[in-house]
Amino acid sequence: MQGLMMTQALTIGSLMAHAQRLHPHQQIVSVTADHGVFRYAYRDCFARSARLANALARLGMDRGDRVATLAWNDHRHMELYYAVSCSGGICHTVNPRLFPEQIRWILDHAEARLLFIDAMFLPLVEKLAPALQHIEHIVVMSGAQAMPATALPNVLCYETLLEEADAHFDWPTLDADDAAALCYTSGTTGNPKGVLYSHRALLLHAYACTMPDVMNLARHDVVLPVVPMFHVNAWGVPYAAILVGAKLVLPGPKMGDGETLAGLMDDEGVTLALGVPTVWQGLLEYLRKSSRKLRTLRRTIVGGSACPLSMMQAFEREQNVWVHHAWGMTELSPLGTFNAPPPGYDALPEDEQARLRASQGRPVFGIELKIVDDDNTQLPWDGKAFGALKVRGPWVCSGYYRETDNTASHDADGWFDTGDVASIDADGYMTITDRTKDVIKSGGEWISSIALENIALSHPGVRAAAVIGVQHKKWDERPLLLIVPGEPAPTRDAMLAHFEGRVAKWWIPDDVVFVDELPLTATGKISKLTLRQRYADHALPGDG
Ligand code: ADP
Repeated sequence: MQGLMMTQALTIGSLMAHAQRLHPHQQIVSVTADHGVFRYAYRDCFARSARLANALARLGMDRGDRVATLAWNDHRHMELYYAVSCSGGICHTVNPRLFPEQIRWILDHAEARLLFIDAMFLPLVEKLAPALQHIEHIVVMSGAQAMPATALPNVLCYETLLEEADAHFDWPTLDADDAAALCYTSGTTGNPKGVLYSHRALLLHAYACTMPDVMNLARHDVVLPVVPMFHVNAWGVPYAAILVGAKLVLPGPKMGDGETLAGLMDDEGVTLALGVPTVWQGLLEYLRKSSRKLRTLRRTIVGGSACPLSMMQAFEREQNVWVHHAWGMTELSPLGTFNAPPPGYDALPEDEQARLRASQGRPVFGIELKIVDDDNTQLPWDGKAFGALKVRGPWVCSGYYRETDNTASHDADGWFDTGDVASIDADGYMTITDRTKDVIKSGGEWISSIALENIALSHPGVRAAAVIGVQHKKWDERPLLLIVPGEPAPTRDAMLAHFEGRVAKWWIPDDVVFVDELPLTATGKISKLTLRQRYADHALPGDG
């Protein structure tokens, strides 16, 4: 027997309609290249989205068409998120930090017909344009006065399009399973892969994000996503914040700059900010140098790569800001696990508190986790056994866009192989040991690069650290530590001595290399791939 309940579709349009009705006056603040700080209310945002939807229709956007963006976090990008998805298109965010050839490949693969760009990306697009096979119009997200000159024939001005468009748009009724957004993984090996989000997945993900033991989002929050809108929908914040009616602060192009961030946080009363560890490291260094205390920030959510425990502790001690560790992936919309302290946390011994803090947290309802060995046999949740991490859930991709064979990523039961190695404790706290390709295999045993990096970063003379495996005649691979030293810089011997008593002797790195900076990927994570290539021939002491 079926239940007798209504079946209104879970769509982004329903979210927009709710917010328009319930939170029309809530603010969106945006830093744009051509405007400085711009602020308006939700209702203005959605009114402009309606105009934009008319403009998209005029430019020929049909249902299911991909509308690509190369843009930072600002209000116009927000308008596109809603105008495109709610009118039946697919908002296809592209990461402008990728190599131009990858951007071209992605745009061609997605067969995007319209491309919306920040003015600063026009030189890049001018170079790519002759090779782009499907793009019909390029829209520069700027006002008419700030439009850059270009020789390209098919370039339009965003604000002019909006001015000329009708204010009323009849939003269509869409199916919850219709595609709403598209984002490609960075593709560190091979070509990038497209993850095609449905309305239902994005909406359920937004619900999940707001829960108290997750982002705990409320109407009184002021949320600053420092994670780009071109990377997994800014971790779902443009939907979750709108769902609860929180004030949204979009930081524009200068997201990596500590001073800009601190200024925005204080000026706008930001209570929650989200981003990858490198962003927070930069902010922390700026705050220390300027002896500045953040006035309103109380929580940050850090994910994308392992957040060092030392950084979490520093934020808490120096700024009274609690750092929540979270884990996710493009393929998971992105949230998989979230770290909130368990009841009784304050009474736990310090080392147990530290173990819990460093963990990536517990699965959010909706996400099922399991760890398996090489034979796909489930491993126990005992906090010790570690294996390949697999996930299932309504906001996990069931396959890649335009990929017919998904057997490499999905097993016969539909579990998605994350490519991460993890352990899970009896209470469900999951700890990532490594990405499968980053784990160091020494004499048939595994060494966790993340665990070693955490220890290196707890040394006061280390600003940034990475551990990679390099070839070794006897042990196959041994760990090599790379550090960006602070002041005073530690000696090599002092650095290695710092590991003693903190890990098994055979885990201690064989050598230390001092560098000025570590290479980053297009999503702001330390690029282990680049490091492995760079240090492939590094001669380890004693490996003659
Ligand atoms: P890419 O890094 O290729 O751009 P994603 O952003 O989807 O793509 O990266 C997902 C990966 O990032 C995960 O599989 C995991 O290896 C890593 N990751 C994400 N969050 C964390 C975290 N909190 N701790 C450790 N690793 C993380």
